[in-house]
Amino acid sequence: MDAKKILIIEDEKSISDIIKFNLTKEGFAIETAFNGQEGLDKALSLNPDLILLDIMLPIMDGFAVCKKIREQSNVPILMLTAKEEEVDKVLGLELGADDYITKPFGMRELIARIKANIRRSEIADNAKNEPSNVQEFGNLAIDMNRYEVRKDDKPLELTLREFELLKYLAERENHVFSREQLLEEVWGYEYYGDIRTVDVTVRRLREKLEDDSSDPKYIMTKRGIGYYFKRP
Ligand code: CA
Repeated sequence: MDAKKILIIEDEKSISDIIKFNLTKEGFAIETAFNGQEGLDKALSLNPDLILLDIMLPIMDGFAVCKKIREQSNVPILMLTAKEEEVDKVLGLELGADDYITKPFGMRELIARIKANIRRSEIADNAKNEPSNVQEFGNLAIDMNRYEVRKDDKPLELTLREFELLKYLAERENHVFSREQLLEEVWGYEYYGDIRTVDVTVRRLREKLEDDSSDPKYIMTKRGIGYYFKRP
C-alpha cells in the first residue's frame, strides 16, 4: 500500500520540521507549506490524505484556508490551535474542519488523531458501496451502512461526525450517554479534547434534524447526565 500523504501547513519552521520528522518515521509521506496561499494551492494540487492546518498563518489564515479547501474537497482537516479562543472558533463556526488539536501537543497524540481521521474518511468512502440498511424513526430514515439520512424523504447533509453520533444514539435509543462516553465511543479513540466538542456536534445535528432545535424531538438532553435518542 502506498504511504499516506500528509500536508503540513504551518509557518513555524521548527514545529513543521519536528512534525515532519516524526510522521516520516511513522511511514507517512510529507508535504509542507509555510503560508496560507501556498497551503491552499498544495491542498488542491497534491491530493493529500490528510491536512494539518495551523490557524495563524501569513497571507491567509487557517480559517480561510479551511473554508476554501472545503469548497472543493472532503479531505480530512486537522486544525492546529494555539489558544482557547481559537478552539471556540474552530468548534463554533461552520468551517468544515474534522478535528482540532491544541498546541503544545505530544507526537503520540498527534499521530493517533491523524490515523483515526484517515481511517474514518476511508470508512465513509467505502460506505457508499455497502448494501443499504435503512431504519426508520418517525420521519427520519437512517441508512446505517451508507451514511445517509433522510427526513420526510429529503436527504440531510450531515458531516461524518454528526452521522456517527446520530447512528450511535439511534441504535441505542432511550439509553442516556454522558459526554465523556460519547467522546470515547463515537470519536473512537482516547480523546484529549474537551467535552464541548460533543455539545457543539449535538447542536449542529439538532439544527439539521429537528423542526425546532430548541425543542428537540430526536436528540434529547438528560439534564446533568448527557444525551439520548428518542423515537418521536
Ligand atoms: Ca502559525
